[in-house]
Amino acid sequence: MINLIDKLATEQCLLYDEMHYLIENRNEETAQYLFEKARQVRILHYGHDVYMRGLIEFTNYCRNDCYYCGIRKSNCNAERYRLTKDQILHCCDVGYKLGFRTFVLQGGEDGHYRDEVLADIVSSIKEEYPDCAVTLSLGERSYESYKMLFEAGADRYLLRHETANEEHYSKLHPPVMSLKNRKQCLYNLKEIGYQVGCGFMVGSPFQTVDCLVEDLMFIKELRPHMVGIGPYIPHKDTPFADKPSGTLELTLFLLGIIRLMLPGVLLPATTALGTIHPKGRELGILAGANVVMPNLSPTDVRKKYLLYDNKICTGDEAAECRKCLERRIESIGYKLVVSRGDCKYM
Ligand code: SAH
Repeated sequence: MINLIDKLATEQCLLYDEMHYLIENRNEETAQYLFEKARQVRILHYGHDVYMRGLIEFTNYCRNDCYYCGIRKSNCNAERYRLTKDQILHCCDVGYKLGFRTFVLQGGEDGHYRDEVLADIVSSIKEEYPDCAVTLSLGERSYESYKMLFEAGADRYLLRHETANEEHYSKLHPPVMSLKNRKQCLYNLKEIGYQVGCGFMVGSPFQTVDCLVEDLMFIKELRPHMVGIGPYIPHKDTPFADKPSGTLELTLFLLGIIRLMLPGVLLPATTALGTIHPKGRELGILAGANVVMPNLSPTDVRKKYLLYDNKICTGDEAAECRKCLERRIESIGYKLVVSRGDCKYM
């Protein structure tokens, strides 16, 4: 076990069976060893800095029907909203004053935001805040669309692959969606020049250790700049309402592995991790994560962007979130920095 972690730390590569063994047989002691190694690598590349991204959830309309997601098309209980360009720019204004230098525009796949509309929003943000990075997280779009948004100034794109196993993918998504297309989107984004993030939910229904090993192998192959992982958490109005949440323990273990596999990667301690455990994000940072993504969405829409139940911070003002996170991060000896927080050493 320890030798597998050492191998991962030095060569950053494990064979399929080795990775399977490491995950399957993990225990408290190996986890602590893994986290120590992951922290060493993280400190080597990023010191004790934690980058922050201001998340702007600008629409919860979605044409997709992913079985796990609270804003899926078939959820008629979801109260739908869209933010205007002015509202989005206002979020950026609030965020900039609080020290955010990356804005993440995330939403469902909403046809209302055609390429021209989004390109205009992106270029307006970049014009107003030239020292900031814009990250998009809008799901699957055409090559031309991604290209147009990149040319409008978008720097990064987050598109979790969700699972790298075909069969598992088909258990989480309706037949019109495919892993092949999802992966193709990621390769397109990379080719266009975006800093790209993939990722998956930990403990999603029907996930096996084999699925996780395939996820890690895919991440290794794609070599993304960012990897977003967080526990699956059920939403009451989805077909998976009664499926159990992913665990803190496995999520932390995987964060540690990913840090060692891709030493310079940007790795968020996600809101979902903070939702399943009161100290989830702090523990995520201590396992190798180096990014947090607090919410900048206007307070009145936050309770409507619910991908899962019991999401934290839906009642707080952006400034409160910022202060609260700063306290949390300082309490474990790290610091929130005012920086675009680009990926180093890829
Ligand atoms: N429409 C965009 C943004 C999706 S929301 C896209 O397709 O990329 C961002 C991420 O939230 C998803 O990629 C998914 O991994 C995660 N998510 C969705 N439902 C969730 C749930 N019930 N529990 C935990 N994470 C969830």
